[in-house]
Amino acid sequence: RAAQPGEQIRMRVYADDTLSKPERAALLQRPIIDSQEIMQRVQPIVDAVRANGDVAVRDFTARFDHVTLDALVIRAPFDVPVLPAPVRAAIDQAYDNIYAFHAAQLADDTHVETMPGVTCSRFSRAIERVGLYVPGGTAVLPSTALMLGVPAQVAGCREIVLATPPRKDGSIVPEVLYVAHKIGATAVIKAGGAQAVAALAYGTETVPKVDKICGPGNQYVTAAKMLAQNDTAAMISIDMPAGPSELLVIADATSNPAYVASDLLSQAEHGPDSQVVLLAVDLSDTQLAAIEAEVHRQAERLPRVDVVRHSIPKSFCLRLPSLSAALRFSNAYAPEHLILHNANARACLSDVDNAGSVFVGSYSPESCGDYASGTNHTLPTYGFSRMYSGVSTATFLKHITAQELTRDGLANIAQTVMTLAEVEELEAHRNAVAIRMMDM
Ligand code: NAD
Repeated sequence: RAAQPGEQIRMRVYADDTLSKPERAALLQRPIIDSQEIMQRVQPIVDAVRANGDVAVRDFTARFDHVTLDALVIRAPFDVPVLPAPVRAAIDQAYDNIYAFHAAQLADDTHVETMPGVTCSRFSRAIERVGLYVPGGTAVLPSTALMLGVPAQVAGCREIVLATPPRKDGSIVPEVLYVAHKIGATAVIKAGGAQAVAALAYGTETVPKVDKICGPGNQYVTAAKMLAQNDTAAMISIDMPAGPSELLVIADATSNPAYVASDLLSQAEHGPDSQVVLLAVDLSDTQLAAIEAEVHRQAERLPRVDVVRHSIPKSFCLRLPSLSAALRFSNAYAPEHLILHNANARACLSDVDNAGSVFVGSYSPESCGDYASGTNHTLPTYGFSRMYSGVSTATFLKHITAQELTRDGLANIAQTVMTLAEVEELEAHRNAVAIRMMDM
């Protein structure tokens, strides 16, 4: 139940030693999303865009965004908007940091001589055409444009198409347009939601078709990405499935209650569905009460207090006896963001098995990674950090392998290949080696 104005804004509190197995399992779960229902609503939108192109995108934009558009697409070079100097400087600084971290991810090619005369190599190439979805329904998000655009630029994608919902006057948020210019976007699509994703997946008269679609968004955006990915006619891939944003904080007796509360709230203000978890390691009742008091005190001062009144009561604090128990729970939960507020935080990194991104120590708030330190903020949610990575330079690359065998190399490997081909009863495979061996 949401907290009412005047009521204390507090998380539910559980103690690990009194939890039953099913209760613990329930805490590790995310809220169930009825994906079937969403898919049924989104499929007709995708189908209409595929069939009717620009007309359909304009119709849905009028219906859902209440904007009537003339041209859907702005092509580079853009009229670069003039931004207030501090905003421009902040975007430039964030761009430089994100660029430096993602450029360092470009790995050298691999060459290995697996047997004498048998050389295998692996090299990367940019995905040629990529679509970047920058959400815009409820917020201005130039940071997401940076987090998607910089790695695409570093990877060397030839066509970078950015899609974002237009403002009420049909224009693009100037900060996003400035980022589009910086990252070398080739076009900006003035559309959001499932219709924008479908336009990128299939192409329309004016929207270029892309090979991969990346970026977060609401449930309609996510559903459209998944539908397009499953349709061979679209021939696209996506970055990852996405759900509401999440944060798990580990705190102990050394943690600063005000800092811990500020981090919990920075996540909770995202939306009523944001997931916030506090793991309290061996905290006394007084220490926990200090964090709870700070959460309420700081929340009451936030412009988005109404959002927080929903998200904080849905969130929970789990009291655990030890740091190792907390890390076990965190690994089982597999959070999108993990903040280590405990003592000796850096030493814990080696015990983190599942997380999208980790914030180490009390001076590393999630906000820095959200905006400007250099790591990417497009991260796996909903427990998908068990098997997915966040967006990185590799998201925009594919890897090609090659091999070259010398005459001696072929002789060295011939018997192995011919034997395996015989086992699999593929005679033409065996013969492709045998025919060369007969010449030697
Ligand atoms: P959005 O851009 O994802 O969606 C807005 C679009 O949804 C609109 O353009 C509209 O066309 C469409 N839409 C609205 N109502 C609809 C309806 N009834 N049927 C069909 N389509 C409809 O913006 P948003 O809604 O503000 O959501 C942004 C999401 O992105 C949030 O969930 C936020 O948490 C998430 N986000 C995540 C990250 C991250 O890195 N994880 C970063 C930024 C934002």
